[in-house]
Amino acid sequence: MNNLLSKGGIIALLFLFVLSFQAESQVERGFVDLRDLPADFDAVTLDGEWEFYWQELLLPGETVQIDSMIYQEVPLMWNDEVLPDGTKLKGQAYATYKLTVLLDKELDLAIYTPAVYNAYSFYINGHLIAKNGEVGTSEESSVPFWTQIVEPIEHAYLKDTNEFLLQVSNFRHHNGGPVDSIIIGERDYIINKTEIIRIIDAIVCGALLMAGFFFLGLFFYGKNQRVVLFFALYCFVFSYYNFASGSYLLQHLFPHLNWEVSVRFEYGALYVSALLFSIFTESIYPKDTPRKLFRGIYLTITLQLIFLIVTPIWFFTMLHKYWMMLVLIVICIGIFIYLKAAHKKRVGSTYSLIGAIFIMFVLAWRILDVLGIVQMPFFLMPVGIVIFFFLHSLTLSQQFADKWRRAKDSAEQALKIKSEFLSAMSHEIRTPMNAVIGLTNYLLEDAPKKNQVKNLNTLKFSAENLLVIINDILDFSKLEANKVDLDYQWVQVRSLGEQLMNTAKPLVGDKPVELALAIKGDVPISIWCDITRTSQVLTNLINNAIKFTSKGFVRLRVSIIKKNENTVRLLFEVLDTGIGIPKNKLKEIFESFTQVSSSTTREYGGTGLGLAISSKLLKMQNSELKVESEEGVGSIFYFEQEFSYKDAKESVVVEQETNGNVSLTGCRVLLVEDNQVNVMVAKRFLTKWGIDLDYAENGEEAIIKVSENKFDLILMDLQMPVMDGYEATKAIRTLGIKTPIVALTASALLDKNDKLVASGFTDSVTKPFQPDILFGKISKYVTK
Ligand code: ADP
Repeated sequence: MNNLLSKGGIIALLFLFVLSFQAESQVERGFVDLRDLPADFDAVTLDGEWEFYWQELLLPGETVQIDSMIYQEVPLMWNDEVLPDGTKLKGQAYATYKLTVLLDKELDLAIYTPAVYNAYSFYINGHLIAKNGEVGTSEESSVPFWTQIVEPIEHAYLKDTNEFLLQVSNFRHHNGGPVDSIIIGERDYIINKTEIIRIIDAIVCGALLMAGFFFLGLFFYGKNQRVVLFFALYCFVFSYYNFASGSYLLQHLFPHLNWEVSVRFEYGALYVSALLFSIFTESIYPKDTPRKLFRGIYLTITLQLIFLIVTPIWFFTMLHKYWMMLVLIVICIGIFIYLKAAHKKRVGSTYSLIGAIFIMFVLAWRILDVLGIVQMPFFLMPVGIVIFFFLHSLTLSQQFADKWRRAKDSAEQALKIKSEFLSAMSHEIRTPMNAVIGLTNYLLEDAPKKNQVKNLNTLKFSAENLLVIINDILDFSKLEANKVDLDYQWVQVRSLGEQLMNTAKPLVGDKPVELALAIKGDVPISIWCDITRTSQVLTNLINNAIKFTSKGFVRLRVSIIKKNENTVRLLFEVLDTGIGIPKNKLKEIFESFTQVSSSTTREYGGTGLGLAISSKLLKMQNSELKVESEEGVGSIFYFEQEFSYKDAKESVVVEQETNGNVSLTGCRVLLVEDNQVNVMVAKRFLTKWGIDLDYAENGEEAIIKVSENKFDLILMDLQMPVMDGYEATKAIRTLGIKTPIVALTASALLDKNDKLVASGFTDSVTKPFQPDILFGKISKYVTK
């Protein structure tokens, strides 16, 4: 903030340096001698006593009776002035001012005439130099206008002794007479200075206009916050006010503008600015704003605007200075609110406070200037306006950023809660699912009666389907929350393919569908890949292909696209001769929860998540899932992926569980599981296979049992009370016990493989387990 203010200070100093003030000349009793001005003079004001002819419009060179003349100060507003002879001046009247000026006629000079209320003609030695509107002796003949004029004075017009004559008339405004200094000066200096002032004003208008458009855009493309709209409008209106007042750029550019309309618009813009400032203040700090007071302010400003529209200008301008007081009061209230907000440490309140104090200071100065009490350096207003709007836009930006940050935090929090909820739910849903599937498997193997087999198979099918759906939803939300890490290892391509085919074989059932694997000869033997994710994608594609194919073939084809020294780009294709996919659905099927038609679920089951999960998994690995399909002919799902490769069999991971004729009779297995139903189901299978089973309820119990007994294998649940599976396994390994430990995991995605390996697990099997897979896993380790 300090930094910011000091920047403002530097700009101000710069202006001061570039544009020095004019010196005052000695104008006394209608006469001034400018011959002895220093050679390097810039400009002088012609402030002082001019000859003054009240209610007379003298023509140049015209002489009048001396008794109608008095000396009067310039600048001066006529309103309520009393002349020495007791005549009371009034705003609506006309008069002539005259000054005799001695000067060096060889100088290059220019004259600056300010806005004189409200029409004037200025002559030098009878030559018309500048005029605003038409002077006249009645309301009908006088035409008001106001703008500042800078005119070079031609050498030919000048003499040694010169007559400066200013005719003024006013019949429409409350104020009359010259309110600002008339300045004569060195031609280039005075013209340049006026240009600079106009340029600064134009820059301020442009900056406000840009800020207005910026915030308007933010309003439309952002979250439609009203406060942003108010600020945008505030910028626009104030930009107009600045354009139509001050150096009167508007009138300068459009000299034929109707004076009445432009005056009403100018004052209107000021009051609307005050109104928008109040609304804006209330909108950014609603908790610190006294509502009733603000309703009062809105009402007063609205009345003010109505007055402006319906009453004559002379009447309205009579009240103007009181209205200006109201504007000051509004700013004071604003400062009070910003102080309160700053005290309560509201977002951005320091900026608002400094901005408001600054503009208050500038406006107070300006009002005192208008009232003729002090003179305001011209640069202060534009600098003040720019700083005020800049600081307020900072407030707004800070509030915006704060809102977005909070929205982001709460979205992240919500996502975290969702993920925690899902993982808790997963455990809760899986536990009973384990029991249902486990018991169904057990009953099917326990010589059921013939009429029970069909029901049990339906039960098994439905329960397994339900589990697939639960797994899909859980996996999908894990992917959505970016909670899936990749885990690479060397994988043998052929054995991966064969493994996938073997797993898929039971799904074909008795359909006349040939399941085939085609690996082109030049495909490398081993690739560096995340086997879990690649298997999940291919399994999903193969399962879909089998599901939607009633006859023909389903084929997994792996071929090479490009091979470098270290990397290879492989093409994986799953081809089928199934029902195919209509062209207009080809894009949609990759979206979550989307199937080709609603009848798909009824006929084939599924959630519409499989392809969405596969796409996301491939995207994580810089690959893209694509499809080509023809209805009634078949489909090809394919993707390309780059791998590091080896043409050697070492470190190859994929191995197949071969159950063969292995016997597990007499093996000692420790089952660590807290859920009694799971224990019951596992027990039935394990004892049926002749295993000598021991049981521990949690990790802590397991450690005791393992240190007291010798087991051939440990089956360890992961989530348990007292001590979970990860900790227990770590502790067992620390004891130096090398017994194989197989984790009972929830799903491939949900439990991170690397975490299992790091904890010391030998392998894992997903719950609820398929009896033959569990058998395979146990036999793999106990028979070694
Ligand atoms: P799900 O199979 O669980 O419905 P997917 O995301 O795996 O979800 O598939 C979305 C939809 O795409 C399927 O419901 C099906 O309509 C269509 N589809 C996917 N694979 C094939 C295929 N091989 N042949 C025909 N249609 C398919």
